[in-house]
Amino acid sequence: LLSSRAKVRKSASVYPLAQCMNLMAERIQRLVDSQRELLHSVSHELRTPIARLEFGLELLKKDAKNNDLNPRFLAMENDLQELNELVSELLSLAKIEQQQALPMHRVNLTETLHMVLNSLEHVMHGKEISHAIHSQDSMVMGDPKLLSRALSNLLRNAAKYAEHKIKISTLQNNTGGLEISIEDDGPGIPDKEREHIFEPFFRLDRSRDRASGGFGLGLAIAKKAVTLHQGKIWVDQSTLGGARFTISLTEA
Ligand code: ADP
Repeated sequence: LLSSRAKVRKSASVYPLAQCMNLMAERIQRLVDSQRELLHSVSHELRTPIARLEFGLELLKKDAKNNDLNPRFLAMENDLQELNELVSELLSLAKIEQQQALPMHRVNLTETLHMVLNSLEHVMHGKEISHAIHSQDSMVMGDPKLLSRALSNLLRNAAKYAEHKIKISTLQNNTGGLEISIEDDGPGIPDKEREHIFEPFFRLDRSRDRASGGFGLGLAIAKKAVTLHQGKIWVDQSTLGGARFTISLTEA
């Protein structure tokens, strides 16, 4: 926001207007910054009471007999696990939101993709995965951890929503960029929701998605990771029938 300040000569007639706009931009920037800090500190502060609750639950379980069969303990354990996952997703988002510049390295995107796929084998179980990789040595400038995170979030979603099929493809576009697409044969994203889908906490069908364990933060994290690479991310309809998410990055 602050980098887009209006620069106008003092003598210009629109100078007061420009000054007003710059003041507004500064205030909005301060608000955004304080919101980020709040997100970071709240998620951080939540860790200690959660850890205390976990400890307390362990003690209760030790005291109780037949605790494995106690559905209340199981429900509490599930709730605590969910809370832990939410806090760790929130911290990831807060951390990435605070990041300004990236430590850039030459990264082999295809290799990174294969590594992420290997680590997600358990999630992909039972899905038919096809590849259309244009080169095994597609290089981009970036941060391997963040790129893996973005790819992993898209692949996890594809695995979650695909009926049977997932397709992964890479191609060189005609503007010197590399595109990587992940598509599935799931329910897809309706046209009117596509512009909101990358907003934090946005979920298409809250009841369905809560049941499948999502908080609506994965795509927001993926988008921020891609934007930090000056890349783009978008979603459209796959020929498989579901969603097709594409990331475009500059080739190194
Ligand atoms: P979540 O953790 O809830 O999956 P995301 O930010 O990753 O959060 O996704 C936001 C929402 O977008 C999901 O809750 C789901 O409604 C929708 N979505 C994401 N990926 C897909 C997909 N491949 N197919 C259909 N819907 C999807």
